[in-house]
Amino acid sequence: SKENGRGRWTSYDPRMDDEREERNRLELDLRAAIDNDEITVVYQPVVDVRDRELVSVEALARWNRAGHGLVPPDVFIPVAEASGMIDALGISVLRQACAQMRAWPELGLSVNVSPGQFRDPAFASRVAAVLADTGMNPHHLVLEMTETYFVRSPERAIQALERLRKIGVQIALDDFGAGFSSVGYLRKFGFDRMKIDRSMVSALDGGQNAVETLQATVALARSMGIPVTAEGVETEEQAVALRLAGCDELQGYLFGKPSAPEAIEDRRRRSAGR
Ligand code: C2E
Ligand code: CA
Ligand code: CA
Ligand code: CA
Repeated sequence: SKENGRGRWTSYDPRMDDEREERNRLELDLRAAIDNDEITVVYQPVVDVRDRELVSVEALARWNRAGHGLVPPDVFIPVAEASGMIDALGISVLRQACAQMRAWPELGLSVNVSPGQFRDPAFASRVAAVLADTGMNPHHLVLEMTETYFVRSPERAIQALERLRKIGVQIALDDFGAGFSSVGYLRKFGFDRMKIDRSMVSALDGGQNAVETLQATVALARSMGIPVTAEGVETEEQAVALRLAGCDELQGYLFGKPSAPEAIEDRRRRSAGR
């Protein structure tokens, strides 16, 4: 139960304001959606910067909420985190994506992981179980994480990383440039890959400062042998600037939106026919 300004409430309260009521409905519907396997997964292409061939996909969760339409993950992921559902949701996404990869054995797979999942000491064994069940090659799986948990609990984060490394999966520092991540984290935590956030990519349109910041960042990562993927690439100009800065892989609407497996399937067939 929770305390609000007007006293205790544990069940329906007619005074509850609309916003809180809607939030509770959202939470209940999300819980049901997870239980009923209604969270689906779309896949966004990631291409090689040189020949623009498809090299991997990022799995992104989708929720088509009955009577409301698609709810953005930026809305439902925080709800899942706040209400203890992120483990179930995250594992469901991982399981669906790993099962899908049986059809795409040559591609890599990236899956987002929330701090709430990563913090759980059982997380690594859950990942291992999904890999075993689906036959997914651990070396083809990249788990994407933001710096949040690493900054907050560095010791425990390092232990958690250790457990995941034993399984053979790679870990990427996600959303670089969006928060307070620094290139120093790459070395400190030994990330295997780095993803440049869309905000840093769109800043390139603003001029030389952003270009120089990007170049310095990518150069440092590459000097540590860490491959860099840029996300949110929307224009040819951005793609060229990112290639010149030394990025290895590109992702964004210019190369394909997140899409159903069938669309990725078509693309694989096209590139195999070339
Ligand atoms: P993210 O990890 O930064 O994922 C990239 C987001 O940028 C996706 O938004 C993608 O659709 C969007 N995007 C990709 N290319 C472009 C582009 O060229 N232009 C623009 N404007 N946007 C682009 P999406 O799918 O709405 O996901 C938002 C965030 O929700 C993700 O950001 C990720 O942090 C989180 N998320 C999504 N699925 C999951 C999941 O299964 N688990 C967890 N923990 N988080 C997830
Ligand atoms: Ca991501
Ligand atoms: Ca993210
Ligand atoms: Ca991002």
